[in-house]
Amino acid sequence: MSDSSLFVGKKGVGSENSITDTVAVIGLGLIGGSFAKALKENDGARRIVGFDRNPNELQAGLSLGVIDEAADSLVSAVKNADVVVLAVPVRAVEAVLDEIKTEFKPGAVLTDVGSVKGSFVKAVERVFSDVELSARPAVIPGHPIAGSEKSGVSAANSSLFVNHKVILTPLPQMGCEALKLVSALWVRCGATVLEMGVDHHDDVLAATSHLPHLIAFSLVDTLAGEGDSKEIFKYAAGGFRDFTRIASSDPVMWSDIFLSNSASTLKVLDHFADDLAILREAIATQDSKTLLGVFTRAKAARDHFSKILSGQAYTTIMNSKNVIFKLKPGGDVNGVIRVAGDKSMSHRSIMLGSLADGVTEVEGFLEGEDSLATLQAFRDMGVVIEGPDEGRVKIYGVGVNGLKQPPGPLYLGNSGTAMRLFAGLLAGQAFDTELTGDESLSKRPMERVAAPLREMGAVIETAEHGRPPMKIKGNCRLKGMHYDMPMASAQVKSCLLLAGLYADGETSVTEPAPTRDHTERMLNGFGYPVNRAGDTASLIGGGSLTATKIDVPADISSAAFFLVAASITPGANLTLKHVGMNPTRVGVINILRAMGGDIEVSNESVVGGEPVADLTVRYSQLKGINIPEDQVPLAIDEFPVLFIAAVCAEGKTVLTGAEELRVKESDRIQVMADGLKAVGVDTQVTPDGIEINGSEIAGGVVDSHGDHRIAMAFAVASLRSKGEITINDCANVATSFPNFEALAKQVGMQISVEHE
Ligand code: NAP
Repeated sequence: MSDSSLFVGKKGVGSENSITDTVAVIGLGLIGGSFAKALKENDGARRIVGFDRNPNELQAGLSLGVIDEAADSLVSAVKNADVVVLAVPVRAVEAVLDEIKTEFKPGAVLTDVGSVKGSFVKAVERVFSDVELSARPAVIPGHPIAGSEKSGVSAANSSLFVNHKVILTPLPQMGCEALKLVSALWVRCGATVLEMGVDHHDDVLAATSHLPHLIAFSLVDTLAGEGDSKEIFKYAAGGFRDFTRIASSDPVMWSDIFLSNSASTLKVLDHFADDLAILREAIATQDSKTLLGVFTRAKAARDHFSKILSGQAYTTIMNSKNVIFKLKPGGDVNGVIRVAGDKSMSHRSIMLGSLADGVTEVEGFLEGEDSLATLQAFRDMGVVIEGPDEGRVKIYGVGVNGLKQPPGPLYLGNSGTAMRLFAGLLAGQAFDTELTGDESLSKRPMERVAAPLREMGAVIETAEHGRPPMKIKGNCRLKGMHYDMPMASAQVKSCLLLAGLYADGETSVTEPAPTRDHTERMLNGFGYPVNRAGDTASLIGGGSLTATKIDVPADISSAAFFLVAASITPGANLTLKHVGMNPTRVGVINILRAMGGDIEVSNESVVGGEPVADLTVRYSQLKGINIPEDQVPLAIDEFPVLFIAAVCAEGKTVLTGAEELRVKESDRIQVMADGLKAVGVDTQVTPDGIEINGSEIAGGVVDSHGDHRIAMAFAVASLRSKGEITINDCANVATSFPNFEALAKQVGMQISVEHE
């Protein structure tokens, strides 16, 4: 319903555009005065009538232009009003209501601005209990989340609510017309309106507003009572001033609020007092680990919170922003670069470091959204983690059995790897957990890990069609087992091996084709023996991990975009430093070489059990091939960009045995085929692969379906495109390759990024 349809036309001071006829504001203080003034300036009502028990304030409201009319009594203010707004202290509400309860005109709406909603609703119930239903107003409790330490009508400010939230807590039996009317009035004042339940409102506000005010009042009072308080206040710097600003708020109003919202405030106050006692004890006993734990968790939470507020966190808020890549055709690929740290190893370094005894130091950690979500999940399970700071992370391991129950579900962003590995690791814990992820992760299959874990004795629930969230029961005794994997999946293998740490006896997994072995290598690196016999990896549960140092190599999956970029760009000569060369990951190099790619390997070494090398790539005319099926698992994440290599090759490239690509972050076969069509390239899609003939790329607009690797693959395609390529939905590039844009520009690609 539009604002104007609520107009109840009658003669008044406002205009045809007014939302309603008469609004009566009772209590012309800061909030009541500001609301009246904002409604008046924005044509919210044709007539604003004010009432205040203090005649001077009422007169001031009239002369300051806050109201149109001053009522001479409470009753006369209410009598002809369509909307009555109570803006008096929360503990004064009941007495005011008692005076006016029989004076409302038929169809009137009663609302308020009080900071506590439970007490307002109780007062309304008590007062109106003896008033006939038909004579009662429709009641819409409200609370603007805006204000200041000032009070009185002289502080009234018509822009106080602009870009602020107003919470309405409508009761189930109230009509939706009344709710729309009150919402429309607040929106006219520039506010955003939210709805929530009464109890929820009081709990949330107790934690976010009432407790901070209590602490500020208490701290200032404590310091003012110290012998040398003058000295303290003289030297108190900006932080103290900022932190205690709210201690200048109105004492009467705040004592009212605490007494009216005592249950919710006491709950959060007791929790805070317990935590404060832990900090006290830690200081008294020189326990730096506890202090660091609290401070790093708080810093991470505050930083994350700031990101949420600026809309760039690893939550769905981030994904709701459309990030667009725009690429001009052509460009160069030259120079020396080091791409982001390996994502698989970054995840595993946090997981195993957390389960180890001692302090693990990690360098080259990928500060992508997904690895940060993994890091936060372990913080939520009580692990103290410092950083990341320029790729450096310090993990204070808690031992295999030292994790604690997290306070809520663990959010794992966009990462299928993380969710499947966590499932194994959490199946044997002593507490229940729930794993959730973003929209794309919530569509991915989890039964492939849940089913074998159940065979080991785990109790796991998945949502419809075996999708996240996954609910994992604690205190289940796991027993080791042998599992023949039906598909080649490093994630399933790693999941079962991690569950095996908690199982009785041996857990062994046989794979139908070689898959990544980072988990086995890193477990060995942490001193936990993993056996390899042919295509079977096994370990015995009940052991322990010892902290170590990890230098995460550059991610070959990220390097792959530049390997292809240089291979397809005439004149290209690019060196990629310190790339992870794990034999289970080098499929992209093998395939490009089989297509005639010119890739030179130098400076080979082994770092923390993982081989690394520098790679130099030069342009060469590629030719189409039948991709050997044994290379598919070794290059599973690299196919989007390998498809671009195939388009730039002479002849036909055929991929088979790659049905796994259909259940990645997107259906990578179909989404790539659709994207290629959009830039003028026809392909032949098959159930387990694709056929691509070498052809020209015309350019066009591509939808990446939120899949980071699809987005980056089409960015690479621009190097050989005739026209511009625009790629939509690229926000998730931050999950695996946070500085892709900068490196692409550095080597000579013509990329620009727009945020919508
Ligand atoms: P204020 O500036 O002190 O205004 C309070 C108004 O209520 C004054 O007009 C006052 O009259 C009147 N009043 C006080 N006691 C009364 C009583 N016993 N009977 C009738 N009227 C009485 O306070 P405010 O900041 O506007 O706060 C008003 C409401 O807004 C409170 O419920 C508060 O919880 C809520 N609120 C405040 C803020 C904030 O930051 N200030 C933010 C959100 C919500 P006099 O002129 O005689 O003093």
